[in-house]
Amino acid sequence: MGINNGSSRVDDGAAAGAAGGGPRVFDQVTDLVGDTPLVRLTPLLEDTPAPVVAKLEYVNPGGSVKDRIALTMVEAAERDGRLRPGGTIVEPTSGNTGVGLAMVAAIRGYRCVFTMPDKISEEKRAVLRAYGAEVVVCPTAVDPDDPRSYYSVAREVTRATPGAWSPDQYSNPDNPAAHRASTGPEIWRDTAGRVTHFVAGIGTGGTISGVGQYLKEVSGGRVQVIGADPEGSVYSGGSGRPYLVEGVGEDIWPTTFDKSVVDRVEAVSDRESFLMTRGLARRAGLLVGGSCGLAVVAALRVARELGPDDLVVVLLPDSGRGYLSKIFNDEWMYDYGFLEPPSDEPVVAAVL
Ligand code: PMP
Repeated sequence: MGINNGSSRVDDGAAAGAAGGGPRVFDQVTDLVGDTPLVRLTPLLEDTPAPVVAKLEYVNPGGSVKDRIALTMVEAAERDGRLRPGGTIVEPTSGNTGVGLAMVAAIRGYRCVFTMPDKISEEKRAVLRAYGAEVVVCPTAVDPDDPRSYYSVAREVTRATPGAWSPDQYSNPDNPAAHRASTGPEIWRDTAGRVTHFVAGIGTGGTISGVGQYLKEVSGGRVQVIGADPEGSVYSGGSGRPYLVEGVGEDIWPTTFDKSVVDRVEAVSDRESFLMTRGLARRAGLLVGGSCGLAVVAALRVARELGPDDLVVVLLPDSGRGYLSKIFNDEWMYDYGFLEPPSDEPVVAAVL
């Protein structure tokens, strides 16, 4: 039960009769949530005196950091009876939280209903359906209060379904609590307490708040916490203007965000985020999502101001596989002006 913090590994090996290197068999896929690795971003660090290491959350079994909160929110709801055997999980989500919830629901026998706007790609719906979840597609072009909006439909399904429970990651205290209990302690343990700066994108704020609270406490306030935010989002002083990077930035302040632990917020443009995301794949072999590029841009800005005794940890939330038709698609990058299309001149003309 709970998020894997690595401590069960040796015991499990011993229980299997092969202490120190024998079979390592986990009972269920949720035992693999958490305990993600740190890797140095050396290929990107030419002009940064301080080391920067990335925490790779795509290694979670559902492919993102959101597996942690899905498991923690479900277990808390089970404990206090909000979710009972045979119950239904209902959430307005199209992204990583849906995948995490669908994975947990699949092995625990819950029904899952996700509502999402019709602008969400067919591929994202297909992932959720693959785990056995039901997907209700709602019109994008309506007000959030309109009864047809995906928020309203989720509320109505919850009301009308006996045994339904809606986790609501934007107000659920178990979201930051998951990071306080697992992500934060893992970073402290795996850097042997040497971490001096923590950088993460802010969506619900669960990651930065939970990790930030833990690292501030354990270090006596020494660790600096830096948020990375898309230009235009409220966290860096914007009005919620649209940006293309997914999973981060908001037009409202969710209750899961504890801004008192954040020392500084760096605003990063879509262009910088996406070019860095592509660079991470090509130069560091890390196929990760757009909010990872965003966080790394902020981390490198911070690291340029520091010295060799500092240690910056940046959290990379998900894999690049979900963005192949966008960030990793040259045509899409040209259309938005993030990349210059190659010139039409034939190669021979250039050498003549
Ligand atoms: N990146 C991606 C891809 C995400 O899905 C999320 C979650 N919304 C985040 C970053 C931000 O994490 P948090 O909600 O914990 O602030």
